[in-house]
Amino acid sequence: MADSSLNPYLRAQQSFREAVDILGLEAAVFDLLKQPMRFFEVAVPVVRDDGSLEVFTGYRSQHNDALGPTKGGLRFHPNVDADEVRALSMWMTVKCALLRLPYGGGKGGVRCDVDQLSEAEIERLSREYIRAISLVIGPDKDIPAPDVSTNPQIMAWMVDEYSRIRGENTFGLITGKPLVIGGSRGRVEATGRGLVFATRQLALALGIDFSKSVVAVQGFGNVGSVAAEICHHLGATVVAVSDKDGGLYNSGGIDMGQLMEYKKTHRTLAGFSGAEPISNQDLLELPVDVLFPAALENQITADNAKNIRARIVGEGANGPTTPEADAILFEQGVMVVPDVLGNAGGVTVSYFEWVQNQTRLYWSESEVNRRLEEYMVDAMSAMHEMHERFGVTLRKAAYLVAVERVAQAMRVRGWLR
Ligand code: NAD
Repeated sequence: MADSSLNPYLRAQQSFREAVDILGLEAAVFDLLKQPMRFFEVAVPVVRDDGSLEVFTGYRSQHNDALGPTKGGLRFHPNVDADEVRALSMWMTVKCALLRLPYGGGKGGVRCDVDQLSEAEIERLSREYIRAISLVIGPDKDIPAPDVSTNPQIMAWMVDEYSRIRGENTFGLITGKPLVIGGSRGRVEATGRGLVFATRQLALALGIDFSKSVVAVQGFGNVGSVAAEICHHLGATVVAVSDKDGGLYNSGGIDMGQLMEYKKTHRTLAGFSGAEPISNQDLLELPVDVLFPAALENQITADNAKNIRARIVGEGANGPTTPEADAILFEQGVMVVPDVLGNAGGVTVSYFEWVQNQTRLYWSESEVNRRLEEYMVDAMSAMHEMHERFGVTLRKAAYLVAVERVAQAMRVRGWLR
């Protein structure tokens, strides 16, 4: 049998298999979920700036639409391949169902290196990719969003191209757009904010007063810096933060206002005088209440898991804990808010963006944040309940909640016999 730890598609299948078995559902549920319902591979011809033609390969995977149209990001990256896209669309099914969003999972991408392309070439690539998949996407079919190396500007070109093809403005096609063409307030901060909402809810269930908790954050980008700032705002003491240049530690708490100012001018945390340097490895092993890995995958591994002294690990990054480390943390009683919930604030506010586009009624930022909190808290509660019912990790519990909901939808729609 192939080593499933190496292939994301096999790993995703294994997680679904396990959830179907634990829930005692019929084999047909797994048979329907083990692969995307629809999967497209497309040629994306792009005229380079020198006049030559280069044909890139693009994908779009629509895993399961029992709960609604499929939804998920688009990445532009040299490692994009069919199995990765399939797996990521399966994880989106879990995220959307867990958050009770009326969506199934989708994902897409183009195998390319954006560093080798000019801005004009990236625009042509974005437009050609949307042309190639235009027949199979749409606000009620499949709704893309930004992911690795794609951004609001790329979403704007894509929605423009689709609107030209359709002959009508179709802002609900895609989310993560600039505010001026139907983006949502609060979208940029949504992932970090949602991470804190979910983690605070778990702390509550564990009897930890979040406002008095001690926090460490790995990664100070879009997710980590927002999470750190909100923790500080809620009264927690952020004792350590880090970026790719190293970490900062102050046992009395880091002044987040000063640090944000420093980061704005210096674009790095290195050299900030309000804290001592700390290595990224030592940061992970600090005796804190909450640790947020919000940078890269595979940071907590079989090698360092036994040294983790946090009571809660809130995963902002995708896949920061390896499966072996997950098992060790579970044995040690460290609770992990899994990435499928931890960073689901992004897709939740993407859903709000789509709702606002469809209704043409735009919300204030406080309205967005209030609703985001409701969704994150509801998902955490459902997941925690499953965790207690079956005695499994929160990560497995997330799959149980999601698979149960998708199976229920497939059953009432008459897909199962
Ligand atoms: P980002 O590029 O804005 O920030 C990444 C941060 O990690 C930077 O501060 C960088 O310096 C730091 N970093 C890089 N290498 C590091 C290292 N070795 N040690 C410590 N820090 C390091 O990215 P982001 O948008 O904040 O995303 C972070 C993670 O969250 C990624 O795994 C991403 O896939 C995931 N995620 C992000 C979103 C979102 O909405 N931004 C949504 C879902 C998942």
